[in-house]
Amino acid sequence: MRPLPLSRLCACGACDLLLPRPEPAVGEIATCPRCGHRLYKPKPDSPNRVLALVLTGLMLYPMAIFLPLMTLDNLGMSESASVFDSCLALWRNHYPDVAVVVLATAVVFPLVKLLLLAAIVLPLGLDAPRPSTARLLRLHLHLEEWGMDEIYFLGILVTVVKITSMAHIEYDIGFWAFLGLTLLSIASIQALDREWCWQQLRSHHLLPPPAGETLAVPGRGALVSGVLRCLDCGLLAACTEDDADRHAPRRCRRCGAALHPRKPASLERTWALLVTAVILALPANLLPIMRVDRLGSSERSTIMDGIVYFFKAGDYTVGIVIFVASMLVPLFKIFGMVIVLLTIGARQAASQRQKTIMFHFIEFIGRWSLLDIFVIALLQALVHFGSLTSIQADTASRYFAGVVVTTMLAAKTLDVRLLWDRPRLRRGRPRDVCAPVGT
Ligand SMILES: [Zn+2]
Ligand SMILES: [Zn+2]
Repeated sequence: MRPLPLSRLCACGACDLLLPRPEPAVGEIATCPRCGHRLYKPKPDSPNRVLALVLTGLMLYPMAIFLPLMTLDNLGMSESASVFDSCLALWRNHYPDVAVVVLATAVVFPLVKLLLLAAIVLPLGLDAPRPSTARLLRLHLHLEEWGMDEIYFLGILVTVVKITSMAHIEYDIGFWAFLGLTLLSIASIQALDREWCWQQLRSHHLLPPPAGETLAVPGRGALVSGVLRCLDCGLLAACTEDDADRHAPRRCRRCGAALHPRKPASLERTWALLVTAVILALPANLLPIMRVDRLGSSERSTIMDGIVYFFKAGDYTVGIVIFVASMLVPLFKIFGMVIVLLTIGARQAASQRQKTIMFHFIEFIGRWSLLDIFVIALLQALVHFGSLTSIQADTASRYFAGVVVTTMLAAKTLDVRLLWDRPRLRRGRPRDVCAPVGT
């Protein structure tokens, strides 16, 4: 293949393959021919659709978070709770660390995501983008997976199944508002066309021009071709000798992210986080995660006890959902990432492709493990009928939240492109390849 200027090339974010920039039509998806990773899918009328969805979501937000989700009636007593109440209940029950995790993922980040989207697409929709839009896009990319309103909503449904036999349930306005907020939040992310946003910034000359046009040959790894790919926005830059210095990295001229040949100390950090997750997983599974006080007697249950409860009660669907989210997903995440880390030297293309797909699956499912924590938070806020029945979080909840957070961080820390690198690159000698190419 003949060399092309970097402005007409892109690099796969998963395997680092350098490719001619794809231009799929609406309805088509451009994927990497080597690893199958999605490169680009155009979204028609993105800014207007995102703006409409986000503004509606922002109107629903106060009702969804602060109004009661449902009211329970039990022997003449009634209790109701909102999403915010579930955070307060954890805080008051001396689990401030778990309360902060629930507050951040179910209350704060969903709002921040909506506000960021509004701040990104409003000026773009008005054809008047601002220089700050690049940094907002980058911030949104990093916060996206930490806003978990859809997982919290699944937690509400599991909670409903769990307390159906305990009390009469009436859905309140907060439930419907939260359902609307969740659907709007998912739809707004689906409608966002990041690549279009970046192109708008370029077309309005808000990006500094490159120092000079660089040529590279597609079909090889970007780094071995002397090209760096920004992990946040995908912009390509020619390598320089200075890029080997991980303490003072260059900044991406489009989004301001640090440009590293590979994520610094990726393997060491990922191993450290995985070992931490394994250590936390022991008390998370062995200690009780929930306590039910009923008529003066106290019953404490582990994660497995909760799963067995649903199967014994005949609620197989919910039992399977909790089993998958609380047991299978954390185990699969830890073992899957250990397999990826241990076999990072293998060079069979088929296994590299399978491991890349497995890694992205681990990245996708990792956050769903927080489901059990959301269920306990809501149960604790809803079920406190005096001395008759009350439910409280127990010790394992903070360890389990720790497992979810550390495995999510481990997936973010691992640079999956290492799977595709030659041994020379993996040994951490980027200086060998960080030399300018045919400028
Ligand atoms: Zn690829
Ligand atoms: Zn960038």
